[in-house]
Amino acid sequence: MGGEKNNVLKNVQEHIKKVCDALGTEPIVYEILKEPLRFYEVSFPVRMDDGSIKIIKGYRAHHNDALGPAKGGIRFFQGVYAEEVKALSAWMTFKCAITNLPYGGGKGGVAIDAHKLSEGELERVSREYIRAISPFIGPLKDVPAPDFGTNPKVMGWMADEYSKVVGHHAPGVITGKPIIVGGSVGRGPATGRGIMLTLRNFAEAEGFDPKETRVAIQGFGNVGKSAALHIYELGSKVVAISDISGTIYNNDGLDVKDLAEYAEENPENLKDYPGEKEFFPDTKYALEVDADVVFPCALENQITEENVPRFKAKYVIEGANGPTTPGGDKALAERGIKLVPDVLANTGGVTVSYFEWVQNLQNYYWSEEEVSEKLEVNMTQAFHDVYNMHVERDVDMRTAAYMVAIDKIAQAMKAKGWI
Ligand code: NAD
Repeated sequence: MGGEKNNVLKNVQEHIKKVCDALGTEPIVYEILKEPLRFYEVSFPVRMDDGSIKIIKGYRAHHNDALGPAKGGIRFFQGVYAEEVKALSAWMTFKCAITNLPYGGGKGGVAIDAHKLSEGELERVSREYIRAISPFIGPLKDVPAPDFGTNPKVMGWMADEYSKVVGHHAPGVITGKPIIVGGSVGRGPATGRGIMLTLRNFAEAEGFDPKETRVAIQGFGNVGKSAALHIYELGSKVVAISDISGTIYNNDGLDVKDLAEYAEENPENLKDYPGEKEFFPDTKYALEVDADVVFPCALENQITEENVPRFKAKYVIEGANGPTTPGGDKALAERGIKLVPDVLANTGGVTVSYFEWVQNLQNYYWSEEEVSEKLEVNMTQAFHDVYNMHVERDVDMRTAAYMVAIDKIAQAMKAKGWI
């Protein structure tokens, strides 16, 4: 386990090194980017419902803030560990740089299983963690957000606790809050909408028509469902969707609106959907059906050297974080299947988080149309930056995305006189 833990950060470091070498940056750029600039480890006591006191461990990393304040989620997960938080904070630095957000990368983690806590315990853990890291965060310093195990309700408590610590209203310290306490309209479907915009931009660049495109989606949660609804509106045909219960397929296209309504009442149970469909128990089968594009929108490590030989699609657009293993990347490249990486395709959520922060700082709130319009401008610009790098440097789109990011960060560090 210890070995595996060390590998997470090591993998990120190897990737940064490869991209720095490809760009020909000065060696100092890699030396700075290989570790977070700042890393905090906190322990804090929380009273549980049975009267006992538990000492809980938490982390917060600021990977690099050359482009702006640190930005990144807070993960509540029993097995969270320091190297993981450091690696995830580096990932956020690159995501924000690729998407032209004026942020650096941050990440936080608390070693608890949120599902095992009562609502009161969850609130006390959330508030105590924010108290413990309050010297290190702030609207102009480090702006957390939800991640695995946390949600808008937790963000609402955390923003309130931070405001109490500093003694004034400070909604801009955290994004992903409920709308009533400063959250942004359009945040919920933002990641799925961003995936639709990515498909549209990618189709234009590659010369195919999204209305004539057959898409298969693995995962029908926040990201998969919203991506499915948005591309259905665009006119694409969604031929397969999977969730934890299995994969459903319809060669003529699934009725996505009907499916989304069904899933509201019957979450995680596509197997029993009464509409026209074929059913396959394999939850990964959506990736292998007869489609033009697949969206992995479930979890990590789904596309590997083992299943890529059976793929029929020409393109992969990553909705989930890390759905493709390094072996999967290699196998896709060997078969000429082009991939649009997560750090570009699934950034609709963090982009609208940025809009939330801007609205909080201005104390002036936008309409849903304004949010949608700005998301489209931002994601289209990011797409073209990466696609142009991919064409000009003749590298795959994942490498191109990291090259765009590291080039910008290196320029900012130079302009600031750090290097
Ligand atoms: P979610 O929990 O809402 O949905 C996950 C879906 O995946 C569910 O439908 C579940 O049934 C399905 N699933 C789980 N295991 C599966 C398996 N083995 N095979 C097939 N399907 C399986 O999660 P989400 O918020 O939609 O996040 C999905 C992914 O997207 C994660 O990697 C997450 O980190 C990433 N992501 C989410 C957001 C966001 O805004 N929610 C933003 C960026 C990236």
